[in-house]
Amino acid sequence: MNCEICGKELKGSGVKIMVEGTELTVCSSCKRYGSEKVSTTSQAEAKRVVIKKKKVRTDIEFKDELVDNFSQIIRMEREKRGWSQEQLAKKIQEKESLIKKIENAEITPDPEVVAKLEKLFGIKLKESVPVVKLEKKVSMTPTLGDVVVLKKKER
Ligand SMILES: [Zn+2]
Repeated sequence: MNCEICGKELKGSGVKIMVEGTELTVCSSCKRYGSEKVSTTSQAEAKRVVIKKKKVRTDIEFKDELVDNFSQIIRMEREKRGWSQEQLAKKIQEKESLIKKIENAEITPDPEVVAKLEKLFGIKLKESVPVVKLEKKVSMTPTLGDVVVLKKKER
């Protein structure tokens, strides 16, 4: 059983309070938001509850990423020119083993190597990819704010 206002786990049975005619079981620090079931405190007391809607922010960022078939493109462009892996390596002043690894998709080359290959072949090897960042919801327990909003919709 969790507190129906803050979502904290209740140690014991919790406190039953009335908020706008709804019975909620809450922890001792949240009982001030409503009137205790047995007491006759006025409804005005319950109105002090602040309605807070949890915001779910969506951020979209653009990130430069290597194209999917990067390794095939390199191999294709190299073979088109009739170059061996060794010749290509020499042209961009890198090791032949690096070219081998790139064409076998074993490694992701450094940005400088990518830039050199782009320049040499006159092609684009990077693309802008949108990255959607979703903020994690803090708690899945409905807060009093959510409960009040639901009730308002029913009216
Ligand atoms: Zn609480």
